[in-house]
Amino acid sequence: MSGARSAFVTGAAGGIGRAVAVRLAADGLAVTVVDLNGAQDALDALADELGAGALALGADVADSASVDAAVAAHVEHHGGLDVMVANAGIAVTAPLVETNDEQWRRVMDVNVGGVFHCYRAAARQLIAQGRGGRIIGAASVAAHRAGKWQSAYSASKFAVRGMSQSLAQELGEHGITVNVYSPGVVQTPMWDAIDVDMAGRRGTAVGSEMQAMVAGIPLGRLEVPTDVAGVVSFLASPDAAYVTGQSIVVDGGMWFS
Ligand code: NAD
Repeated sequence: MSGARSAFVTGAAGGIGRAVAVRLAADGLAVTVVDLNGAQDALDALADELGAGALALGADVADSASVDAAVAAHVEHHGGLDVMVANAGIAVTAPLVETNDEQWRRVMDVNVGGVFHCYRAAARQLIAQGRGGRIIGAASVAAHRAGKWQSAYSASKFAVRGMSQSLAQELGEHGITVNVYSPGVVQTPMWDAIDVDMAGRRGTAVGSEMQAMVAGIPLGRLEVPTDVAGVVSFLASPDAAYVTGQSIVVDGGMWFS
């Protein structure tokens, strides 16, 4: 046990999760980076880069036993838990009539079930510790305003926002805050895949979808993972002690344009 506050970050081999882990470590937290077993090499390299006793764990957030075991390993390694960042998520970009049962189930199992499992494991630990804590989840602008071909994805993100609002009310008496961050279009492997998918559907060049988005973003550029990491850093910090039940939209103003 290092004595530092500690954070558990899922989806840490991906674009946003990696940036969040790096930022929280720079903020002085001891971090556990979590992703699917197939990402273990990337996770191990990230944990080495973070130093300060960082731990790399393989877990499938859709599986509650896997999440419970990973949180238990985090607590054992770091001597407790202070910040849960339930970031792992997947996208489905397809017309509803073409979305198959497997896609629907997986996006709900990972995006909603995964957040539920992480929130529950964190809440149990934080309540038992009795020293407050922070629970932070990945929503999206699609949790506020759904776009075309996002029926399944948007449903999952609205669910995450609702779950977080409810849990914030339950956990306030324990000094635990619950908030989500809602990014717009972030340059990560997830959006690279969506870009290819949408270009195929529209018959446009790969890359053109993301570039077209820039025209609708008042700040005039696509979002990068560190834009999101800064917001997560704030939500995990003492400055956010009185912020709970919120969705912090971090989208360059895209939602309002
Ligand atoms: P990403 O694809 O770059 O990274 C996601 C990571 O989650 C991957 O490393 C993947 O292996 C991991 N993952 C997927 N399923 C998992 C599972 N079952 N268990 C454990 N890990 C799993 O995606 P990203 O862009 O970094 O997105 C991170 C979060 O932010 C997601 O919840 C996403 O929905 C949300 N988000 C992203 C954007 C965007 O534009 N990129 C916008 C809004 C919200």
